[in-house]
Amino acid sequence: MSSDANSPRQKFSPTLIFVLIAVNLVFMSTGGLIYRNQKEGLKNGIGQNLNAIANLKIISIREWLKDRKLTIQSLVENEAFYEHYKSFCEDSDNKDLESLNSSLRTILIDTNYDQAILYNQDKNPIAVQPRFAPLIGQQVNRVLKMMMDTDTTQFIDIYEDPENVFHMGLFITLKDLTNPAKPKGYVFVRINPEIAFYPYLQEWPAVSNTAETLIGKQIGDSAVFLNRLRFDKEAPLQRKISMKDTTVAVVMALRGRTGVSEALDYRGIRVVAATRKIPDSPWVLVARQDYNEAYQPVREKLTFVLLGMFSIMVLASFIIFWVFRQQGLTFYRNAYRSEKQRNWLQNLIEQSINEIYVFDPETLKFSFVNQSALRNMGYTMEELRRMTPVDIKPLVSYEQFHSLVMPLRAGTLPVIQFQTVHRRKDNSEYPVEVFLQLLDSDSGKVFLAMINDITVRRQAEKLVADQQEELETKNLELAALNEELQTTNEELQTTNEELIQSDEELRVTNEELQLSNNRMIYLNTDLTKAKEIAEKANRLKSRFLANMSHEIRTPLNGILGFSELLAEVAENEEQSRMADIIISSGHRLLDTVNSILDISALESGSVLVNYSSVRLSELVKESCGLYAAIAIKKGLELRHNVTEEIFALGDESLIHKVVNNLINNAIKYTNKGLIEIRIEKDYHDNKAWAAIHVVDTGIGIPLEEQEIIFEEFRQASEGLTKKHAGSGLGLNISKRFAQAMNGTITLKSKKGEGSVFTLWLPVYED
Ligand code: ADP
Repeated sequence: MSSDANSPRQKFSPTLIFVLIAVNLVFMSTGGLIYRNQKEGLKNGIGQNLNAIANLKIISIREWLKDRKLTIQSLVENEAFYEHYKSFCEDSDNKDLESLNSSLRTILIDTNYDQAILYNQDKNPIAVQPRFAPLIGQQVNRVLKMMMDTDTTQFIDIYEDPENVFHMGLFITLKDLTNPAKPKGYVFVRINPEIAFYPYLQEWPAVSNTAETLIGKQIGDSAVFLNRLRFDKEAPLQRKISMKDTTVAVVMALRGRTGVSEALDYRGIRVVAATRKIPDSPWVLVARQDYNEAYQPVREKLTFVLLGMFSIMVLASFIIFWVFRQQGLTFYRNAYRSEKQRNWLQNLIEQSINEIYVFDPETLKFSFVNQSALRNMGYTMEELRRMTPVDIKPLVSYEQFHSLVMPLRAGTLPVIQFQTVHRRKDNSEYPVEVFLQLLDSDSGKVFLAMINDITVRRQAEKLVADQQEELETKNLELAALNEELQTTNEELQTTNEELIQSDEELRVTNEELQLSNNRMIYLNTDLTKAKEIAEKANRLKSRFLANMSHEIRTPLNGILGFSELLAEVAENEEQSRMADIIISSGHRLLDTVNSILDISALESGSVLVNYSSVRLSELVKESCGLYAAIAIKKGLELRHNVTEEIFALGDESLIHKVVNNLINNAIKYTNKGLIEIRIEKDYHDNKAWAAIHVVDTGIGIPLEEQEIIFEEFRQASEGLTKKHAGSGLGLNISKRFAQAMNGTITLKSKKGEGSVFTLWLPVYED
């Protein structure tokens, strides 16, 4: 994979390099052109500048020289001056000499000249200013003498005096123009160029570190400089350059070169120079600037251009590189995708369950067989390469196969399909379905055969056929069953009709029941009304009883009180017995009345329960104390058995009444033995209860009467000879009191053995 990946890169690299070079060349040549244009422009500019400066200097020099000359001439040609000179020549008058000296002084003051000498006709100096100035040298003197002979006005070129001072001179002949016979004179003025001329030359109109103007002239075979040089401190006239050095600017100028050119200067350094001859003089002028300085802006521009170009080239290279890289990436990606797809397809073909065979149309030899086919057939690829489809089809001969593929060869059918049998290497056979095509490939036409092993399909088809048969049998059975069901259904239909009829009858019965029900509801309403009337009557009865009891109790108390008095004062036994009878009857009557009062209070709902914590041991002891005498009198033992302290929640007076009643009954219905009162705590109905058992060994109560004795006015063994007096109200009242305090009374008894009455009350809990 990695070696493949290199090929596109190699394929693209020369193109990339070529494009990079081409683009960079374009940029470089563009940059070069720009640079050349810039340089040309600047060169022209520099040339124009230098030319202009040179021209300006020449004009200035000429003006200066002309100026100097005119000033002197005008003064010397002054008539008054000449008159003084003439008069002095005639009589050597000191006054005239004084005037002449004065005029010469004036000349020096008005101009930059530093010395002026007046010579007479005999070429002898007669006046010198300043008076004590050093005399001019021999050489100059000789020159002057020569000039006096020629009678002309002349400049004396820059020269160096013996004291190494530079001078320029001007020589003027003094004469009367109208009369040449008149005496002649000569004036010589001298100026120091270091002061008056060189600074003037050295001025440069722009700031420059190297530019200068210089004046030269030829002396013999050499060029010499007349002014001070910026970079050479040798005195003027000292520095000599051979006239053969034609590359030196001053030599070029002396050789007649006018204009701007690149040259060398006196230091041998490359310069740009404008050269000129100064008219009417032996001088040449060179205005020059160092090449390096002059072309500094060009170099800057070049740097700028180079940098810009370089940046653009780098950027362009980068962009091109990036574009190529992207292209490369896309190429790799596409190549990778197609490779992947190819692999995928190959895998698909290789791993396809279908057998795939490719064979030559002429020789019919196999050229490709997929894995599935190799596996199934049991041949190796090498073995199959030597075989043809006919070798693996036992049912098809060569002739048959050729005629089979005829339509494909003729192109009349794109694909043919047929079923046959394949034979494996181990001679086993299996049914197949063949799809055969004639295809164009890179290496010419090939037959492509796709084979489906249809063994499973055949089995499935057989299975389906078997199942079909079975289904048909089942279907017949179902049809029979269906018929049976049809009959049953009809029977059910009949039954249904009968049911509908019964339903109708039921509906009629229901309506009748509904009617009865309605009648019952009416009846019930009547009964409710009757009940309400009865309850009302009962309440009236209770109220009546209460009233009556009260009315009875008041007189009864009176009777009892007096009977007890009577008993105490009875005079004999008869009276005492009668009094006792009255007392006992009275008490019984009082008990009955009290009971009636309790009943009526219960009935009218006026019993109020004052709940408190009732200490049962105390209460029981008190009650026992109350009945001790009666028990003893009857020969009975009355005892209490209190083992634990229990507090009941209830009304103390009501509990007293109940307990008293139970003890009273126990004594009443016990003839021998004992009566015992026990207290204990018991738990039932998820609650703690205080139980007061009143146990006796009395007559007992038969089971069938244990219910009714709690009803009003009911007693056990009713109808029998009444042996025990009583109203039959006590238990009823007691139970209702117990219920009013959320308790109850229960009974366990056996006839002839005794009874246990238990009062249950809720336990008081803090
Ligand atoms: P009275 O005692 O006034 O008849 P009670 O309501 O107190 O009315 O009792 C109803 C009846 O229950 C009594 O007549 C009696 O037959 C029976 N009875 C009550 N206590 C006992 C007892 N301890 N032993 C046997 N029978 C009893």
